[in-house]
Amino acid sequence: MPRWGCWPRCEGGNSTGEGQLVEVNLLSTLLSSLVNQGAGYTAAGVIPGILGNRHPSIAPYETFPTADRPMVVAVGNDRQFTALCAGLELPELPGDPRFASNADRVGHIDELASVLTSRLITRSAAQWSAILAPLGVPCGPVNDLAGAFDLAETLGLEPTIQAGDGADAITLPANPIGLSGTGIQSASRPPRLGEHTAELAAWLEPPHRDPSPHPPSVLEQIMTTATPMRDPLDLLDTSSLLEPEERDIQAVVGQFVADNLRPHVGDWFENAHFPREMVAELGKLGVLGMHLQGYGCAGVNAVSYGLACLELEAADSGFRSFVSVQGSLSMYSIWRYGSEEQKLEWLPRLAAGEAIGCFGLTEPDFGSNPSDMRCRAVQDGSDWILNGSKMWITNGGIADVATVWAMTDDGVRGFLLPRGTPGFTTNDIKHKMSLRASITSELAFDDVRLPASAVLPEAKGLGAPLSCLSEARFGILFGAVGAARDCLQSALNYGDSRVQFGRKINGFQLTQKKLADMAVALNSAMLLAIHLGRLKEAGRIRPERISVGKLNNVSQALAIARECRTILGANGISLEYSPLRHANNLESVLTYEGTSEIHTLVIGQALTGLPAYR
Ligand SMILES: Cc1cc2nc3c(=O)[nH]c(=O)nc-3n(C[C@H](O)[C@H](O)[C@H](O)COP(=O)(O)OP(=O)(O)OC[C@H]3O[C@@H](n4cnc5c(N)ncnc54)[C@H](O)[C@@H]3O)c2cc1C
Repeated sequence: MPRWGCWPRCEGGNSTGEGQLVEVNLLSTLLSSLVNQGAGYTAAGVIPGILGNRHPSIAPYETFPTADRPMVVAVGNDRQFTALCAGLELPELPGDPRFASNADRVGHIDELASVLTSRLITRSAAQWSAILAPLGVPCGPVNDLAGAFDLAETLGLEPTIQAGDGADAITLPANPIGLSGTGIQSASRPPRLGEHTAELAAWLEPPHRDPSPHPPSVLEQIMTTATPMRDPLDLLDTSSLLEPEERDIQAVVGQFVADNLRPHVGDWFENAHFPREMVAELGKLGVLGMHLQGYGCAGVNAVSYGLACLELEAADSGFRSFVSVQGSLSMYSIWRYGSEEQKLEWLPRLAAGEAIGCFGLTEPDFGSNPSDMRCRAVQDGSDWILNGSKMWITNGGIADVATVWAMTDDGVRGFLLPRGTPGFTTNDIKHKMSLRASITSELAFDDVRLPASAVLPEAKGLGAPLSCLSEARFGILFGAVGAARDCLQSALNYGDSRVQFGRKINGFQLTQKKLADMAVALNSAMLLAIHLGRLKEAGRIRPERISVGKLNNVSQALAIARECRTILGANGISLEYSPLRHANNLESVLTYEGTSEIHTLVIGQALTGLPAYR
């Protein structure tokens, strides 16, 4: 002992006065624990090995095997036994007449030990300690002297004494559980001088040290012994809020994304290319109009649709935009406001990805305020004549059918324009710095003659296009979570491999603050999305609730994308990594389907009853 400096340490305490009270108490506990061993050794030459033992009059009080190393459980009364059984998830055991009282347990110790062993063997000693100790069960993983000195778990769980300096420094557990009198039990001859020196010296070798400079803290213990997280980004286990079928849908779409989109998306973005061949694949996948019933649509619930959007946007907002516009704007407008003929003509093809749809509401001069739109349709006999233009229309240049909203003498009406209708032209918008893997176009209508059958018969007034926007915004508030998740994953991966100043950048507190803040925001956004999904499924969604989701989730996702970019340093501006691409995309997402300012005003009106748009 003196070799490692317990005594010098206390001597030092004598002169400096530092920590002496505590240390002397701890040391005396340690030494008293060792007295038995010392007595056994000097009296009978027994070198203590496993120090836990069976107590003759208390049960259970003995050493048990666990998944890794022996562990002592020492139960002194019925309360502790009940706590032990609760911790081991054996709640029926205290009611078993064989184990009802201490006397019963002592009488049936072998049976009891057998039951307890069958549970204790399933986890490590440290894991059981973390479960049982807070319940008040005396227990611990330390069973031999060497273990007492080098078990990381022990050092974290027990009060410790730091002894010695430099290479010889050692942390001693002050009260290693299990140091009870095995030594004295076996009486044999006293040792000859020097007989066990080598063995004792082997014990007293400085123990194997963990490469980390400090013993693990209690928090670290909990983190390492808690049930491992399936997905560290799912900090709050939000996936447990999902039904198995919803998780399956998410997994299938996630796999599609991994196989078909993710490997190419950087190039598509760079080359401003939308891979049209993917439309049919998305149709086969079943995500086009997947939340609609009938007409070849999958008819899944709101959360499943949201999860599909999430996975698609984890690849790129362009693909989620395509699916949103196809399913929630084009298809929904037909499904909700169209005639039966219109539904039969378009919905099955749009669902299968055999046709592409677009939705024209925004105009060059009117975005946030579509009520002032200039696009106008006038009746000519039973026909309609359409003039004007639409701007910033997703899928416009590749659409087979456009849902176009125009002012009429009866207010806003919706029209279906097939591609090739005379007078209807499109012009793709170039030089975008955002949503580059998505087509955005201008639509122009020059005396376009439309038959009466082109009108969406049920759509009368601005409420009709706005209801379609609510549908699409719902997908967006999930999709934004996907983009944010992908950014955070990218930053976490990068920070785990990038080393600066001799350590992984993930190991710096400033990086961890960023990561932690982002994980909190990401998980909060996911909770909000799932909650809104459940409200939608229950028929209790309202426009201002969707505004809360779109406003929060998109702005949080954008902030996350930008922050992740900083973690990637210079590499963060490369298309090799996703965060800046996502950030650029999210600038569009922040603006379309209602800018953040407009959603703020929607919420403001809900709170005050006062519209503040004009
Ligand atoms: C990539 C992309 C794809 C798009 N796809 C489609 C599509 O498929 N179909 C479609 O119809 N549209 C689409 N849009 C258009 C989009 O919906 C509009 O851009 C959006 O509604 C904003 O309109 P705006 O650009 O005209 O901005 P403006 O309405 O001119 O607004 C400019 C700024 O003024 C603010 N502002 C406006 N009014 C107020 C107010 N009352 N109080 C405070 N601030 C205010 C806005 O918040 C914004 O910050 C798309 C846009 C983009 C970028």
